[in-house]
Amino acid sequence: MAEDLRCSSCKKKISNIKGSTRFMCPQCGKTEIIRCKHCREIVAKYKCHNCGFEGP
Ligand SMILES: [Zn+2]
Ligand SMILES: [Zn+2]
Repeated sequence: MAEDLRCSSCKKKISNIKGSTRFMCPQCGKTEIIRCKHCREIVAKYKCHNCGFEGP
């Protein structure tokens, strides 16, 4: 079972789940936001493609 997880900020594949985070969009709750360790460290923005919510 290969899950194709991509970081919502940099679009890189999440190969190592350690240090990355996944959570549902705080506004619409429909889209899963995925952030890799790198984007957490640089506090990259993410955007929900369902409702357009942007967050740090
Ligand atoms: Zn990233
Ligand atoms: Zn949303």
